[in-house]
Amino acid sequence: MNNKAYRVFTIESGSVSEGAAISTLHLKGAGIDIPAVIIGEEGRGRERGVVPVGNPPMVPCPERNKDVWTSSDKCEKCGTVLGEKKEGSYTRNHPDQGQVQGRLMFAEVGQTKAGKPKFFSKEKATTDDHIIVVLRTKIGFRGGNSHTGDRAGWKCSKYGCDASGEGAVPEACPKCGATGSWDGPKLLFAEFPGKIITRGRIAQGAAGRAGGGEQVIALMPKDVVFRTSYSGRLYGAPSSHYYVWDGSKLLAATWDERAAADLF
Ligand SMILES: [Zn+2]
Ligand SMILES: [Zn+2]
Repeated sequence: MNNKAYRVFTIESGSVSEGAAISTLHLKGAGIDIPAVIIGEEGRGRERGVVPVGNPPMVPCPERNKDVWTSSDKCEKCGTVLGEKKEGSYTRNHPDQGQVQGRLMFAEVGQTKAGKPKFFSKEKATTDDHIIVVLRTKIGFRGGNSHTGDRAGWKCSKYGCDASGEGAVPEACPKCGATGSWDGPKLLFAEFPGKIITRGRIAQGAAGRAGGGEQVIALMPKDVVFRTSYSGRLYGAPSSHYYVWDGSKLLAATWDERAAADLF
């Protein structure tokens, strides 16, 4: 186990938030609940990616001091026993106590006894050279997605032509003259620069065949651009986003925003 503690972020197709939601994984056979960061989906053609969280951070129950509308005598979120039912009402007062799992804000990456990745919640980060990113990347309707690095020049797609270059994609191949999205010069992307901690899969359709894509949890290096992109029908939403961790902020932008604002 490396004992560096990293900041944790969640990225949902262009929108960045601090920390990652901790869910409860129910192990039916063993009858135990495990706090974990979970990506992907369960079911046919789908796959969940699960990273258990040791010592998950606890925060005060959000229902504290509120009148809770419930048929139970305990808070469903934290299990605290509620006050008496109020006269003529179905609400019970939540005492000023009880804790729930908070978000995972800082974590070390370790291993379970079986050698699978596990997070250990920490009070603060001890390094800014990497961050942990939970990529809950969407897919377009009947489409897919991909996780890559930054733009990395272009290459001609015409069979037998080996032309390639840096920078913007030329309209026609300077070597063979091919044009268009099928035959002509095509944008290239660098490999996804992150170290994958776990992968999950989301899909559409009962058997998961209508469309599908990946979600990942990864350790991302500082100052290296990465990208999420989506295919299928997007109903006017951008088809990709670029990100970079600059050591204090995780920036996100479309290509046009990046070019217009000279962000990164
Ligand atoms: Zn509660
Ligand atoms: Zn060519």
